[in-house]
Amino acid sequence: MTTVIDGKQAAASVIEAVTSAAAGYEKQTGGKVGLAVVIVGNDPASHAYVGSKSKMAKQCGFNSVQHTLPEETTQEELMALVATLNADASIHGVLVQLPLPKHLQSDAVIQAILPEKDVDGLNILNAGKLAVGDLETGLISCTPAGAMLLVRQIHGTDLSGLNALVIGRSNLFGKPMAQLLLAANATVTIGHSRSHDLASLGRNADILVAAVGRAQMVKVDWIKPGATVIDVGINRIPAPEKGEGKSRLVGDVAFDECVAVAGAISPVPGGVGPMTIAMLMANTAIAAYRTAGLTAPKF
Ligand code: NAP
Repeated sequence: MTTVIDGKQAAASVIEAVTSAAAGYEKQTGGKVGLAVVIVGNDPASHAYVGSKSKMAKQCGFNSVQHTLPEETTQEELMALVATLNADASIHGVLVQLPLPKHLQSDAVIQAILPEKDVDGLNILNAGKLAVGDLETGLISCTPAGAMLLVRQIHGTDLSGLNALVIGRSNLFGKPMAQLLLAANATVTIGHSRSHDLASLGRNADILVAAVGRAQMVKVDWIKPGATVIDVGINRIPAPEKGEGKSRLVGDVAFDECVAVAGAISPVPGGVGPMTIAMLMANTAIAAYRTAGLTAPKF
């Protein structure tokens, strides 16, 4: 019987733990955990993401601050805001929503966020800590941290003897995911657009993680019977069955066929997606505890 991994429920458990950690922080320090989210421009999808992040932060009991800047914001103005937030002791996490409008240099902005407030885990110091196997003192990129939590639900913390294939090598997801799996003792292969015969690499994988951005690319004959399949992809495809011009979300895995062979599989939507925002809240709580010199909670 295949387990369909319930990301909504896993995320709700994390949110419950974060809410209680935020209350504990307030009790011990008299202040609130603070998250600042910055959005530049008018991209509707980014506004929707930022809206749900701010709402969730409030639900966790955080001091949630949103800075909405116009499309024509300059690099200097954005860097000045980041510097202000870096210096603000009531703010423990700073998130700049990506993608930024084309005239802005995202990397310079992201690297300007203090590593200890970089709750997206994208600063090179945080990426570097993960690369050297330090999972304790940095902040880990939210989506891989969330995907790893789902893997742990199925396999526990020690993946010794298991083969893992991560398809995708982005800094945002593929590389940190591979490092988390490696740190948990899995034998890790990273596939990408130049890999040959991903299907046979897949058939050798006890854990297959797909983060490509290609709708339903991973087919049933890529899956080792009983494998755990984590689908990170978010792709919108036409859904004429829902009405003219309608669309629906699918992952990078052909769920309907793979569910018959996998041992456990995460759906899209309702799998990894809800975990990202939950881990953002978790990182913010961790950052606040560390700043106050308190032992940070684990999620
Ligand atoms: P990305 O930066 O575009 O990276 C995609 C990766 O897939 C690259 O490493 C690329 O290889 C590889 N790739 C592209 N076409 C391929 C092919 N035909 N065969 C094998 N590999 C191929 O994307 P990303 O930011 O990592 O995101 C990946 C997916 O995850 C997207 O659908 C995104 O929406 C989703 N995502 C979801 C969440 C969430 O909250 N659930 C968060 C982040 C991302 P090369 O390096 O060789 O180009």
